[in-house]
Amino acid sequence: MTAQNRNEPLDAVALAAELIRRPSVTPEDAGTIPYLASVLERLGFTCHQQEFHEPGSEPVMNLYARYGKTGRNLCFAGHTDVVPPGDVAAWTIGPFSAELAAGYLFGRGAADMKGAIACFAAAAARFVGERGDFDGSISLLITGDEEGVSINGTKKLLDWLAKRGERLDACIVGEPTSARELGDMIKIGRRGSLNATLTVRGVQGHTAYPHLADNAAHRLIAMLHALTAAPLDEATEHFQASTLQVSSIDIGNPASNIIPGTAEARFNIRYNERWSSASLREWLTRKLDAVGGRYELAIHVSGESFLTPPGEVSDTLAAAIEHVTGRSPERSTSGGTSDARFIHHYCPVAEFGLVGLTMHKVDERVPVADLAALADIYRAALDLYFPVA
Ligand SMILES: [Zn+2]
Repeated sequence: MTAQNRNEPLDAVALAAELIRRPSVTPEDAGTIPYLASVLERLGFTCHQQEFHEPGSEPVMNLYARYGKTGRNLCFAGHTDVVPPGDVAAWTIGPFSAELAAGYLFGRGAADMKGAIACFAAAAARFVGERGDFDGSISLLITGDEEGVSINGTKKLLDWLAKRGERLDACIVGEPTSARELGDMIKIGRRGSLNATLTVRGVQGHTAYPHLADNAAHRLIAMLHALTAAPLDEATEHFQASTLQVSSIDIGNPASNIIPGTAEARFNIRYNERWSSASLREWLTRKLDAVGGRYELAIHVSGESFLTPPGEVSDTLAAAIEHVTGRSPERSTSGGTSDARFIHHYCPVAEFGLVGLTMHKVDERVPVADLAALADIYRAALDLYFPVA
């Protein structure tokens, strides 16, 4: 199966298989992006392959491809990198052989998310094949650094685009957002995630002489109580309530007659749009200072919360989904974070793609019928976003 010629229809399944056969485990590209660029160039896209290389990390290949020079620019964003296959012997079909069996296309990246990239290319091919030089632009923003550290990917590509004066008017991220059936869920935002390590310093001593010591365990308990006594907030219109979960408490004191001088705890906060990592840091510091004593707080932010309120992009996607599948998608902010966290600073963004049940698992696969339907949905979204004048 080779992908196509300019005049033949681009087959989403054949293209997905070609992409899966290139084992692009982060940060390797394995020829995936040059191959995708060659397919898009034959369709009339102008392609820019950009390698980014932050010192101390592996270089990563990225792609920005654009069809058209005028009008609104609808961008499709995604990643060609995949997570490792794990135990290859456990796979029914080789993770990079991209074979069809029982109505499924098997392979690492089939669901997350080479399948969606192939569907968008197939949709764009049919759209430009019919509409030719329409008043508008279609672009693809593809990174090879989503599953890894995400420092040589989408964020840098967006910076690079902004410096060139390139504008995105709306963006669809093709992550596998469908929960059980294709079309049951769109993501319009994601919660933020903050990890913290709290270390309390006291004075070690003999349990029989507590007046000569300062028990770090007691102060840690008081501090964790202060953080967990009341909920952080309530659910908002589009988000669940923010939550703080203590994941570990470590003192490591083997003796029953020693007052510990140090006590440590770790916790994770998943937060909605009422908070930012800065406001959370302020809140944490205020609560901990109120308990008092010496402590250290180390904070790592994996992603801020973000939301694109229901509007043109999610409405367009929902209408396209309903047209093709008859389903009315839930607009959700559940799950982990995605590269949409970078894109929402530039334009309205919504995420929609295949069913994610097998992503990152052995025997990752998608129904062939879903690939055809997803290509139809993206095509319908293009029709709705660029109506005939
Ligand atoms: Zn993904």
